Amino acid sequence: MKKQIPDCPNGHGAMKVARTDKKIMFRDMTITVAAEQYRCPTCGFGAATVEQAAAAQKALADAYRKRVGLLTAQQIADGRKKMGLTQGELAERANIGIASIKRWEGATIQSRSMDRLLRAALGGEICGDPCSGNRPFSVARIKLVLRQFEAELGRPILKKGDKMLFASKFAWYADAVAYRETGQSMTGSTYAALPYGPQLNNYRDLLETILKADEASVEPLTEEERRIITRIARTFPRDRMVYNAAHREPAWKEKETGAMIPYSDAARVKEV
Ligand SMILES: [Zn+2]
Repeated sequence: MKKQIPDCPNGHGAMKVARTDKKIMFRDMTITVAAEQYRCPTCGFGAATVEQAAAAQKALADAYRKRVGLLTAQQIADGRKKMGLTQGELAERANIGIASIKRWEGATIQSRSMDRLLRAALGGEICGDPCSGNRPFSVARIKLVLRQFEAELGRPILKKGDKMLFASKFAWYADAVAYRETGQSMTGSTYAALPYGPQLNNYRDLLETILKADEASVEPLTEEERRIITRIARTFPRDRMVYNAAHREPAWKEKETGAMIPYSDAARVKEV
């Protein structure tokens, strides 16, 4: 489509494209953005088209995101495409509305907690299969697995305001043992070695989302997965037992605080 170059309203004929670096105050920061608009070479009158204004808005949002360490619109879209996901599929995986994904791939800036959730959902792309255990990350499946543990243990382990101290360890054993024995994790979760043991990466931001997830919307547990959960629940009938066992695992002990625990460590899990 040929671009219609607007005329100067002061009667000087066609204007020209002008690119200028604009300094913009945004959320207490001065951000320089390369903005494009039409300008009259005779009188200097300048105007931006709707498209140019939208592009400047997006450039500002991305410059800000880069500055504060949030995923940019491009990184979200690229990560999603590399995983072969549509916006709807990414939304489903992260348990957020598709409208949010669309806005974040545009000029809307995601919150820090939503950024962590996006990183978790795109985790397979950012860290690769070693961190997701050959399964796409699914919040709803985490809930499905934890609810199955609750049925086996006969008590709740996933509670509102919970720090997931025990739930995370049950989930880690389920994911690691499933990976070791079936070649695929149960939830696609990434785990980090934290002071209190293996923990779901970004669990602080995930808990609310897990509680809200619809576990009936995902692939049900296979017979094999149910057997693994039963075995783990019988090995650790009390919370303290799963907690202590996780602390004896070399896969956790040998890691620096904050380091990812890759699924390649599943072969070394010794308590189950
Ligand atoms: Zn003019």
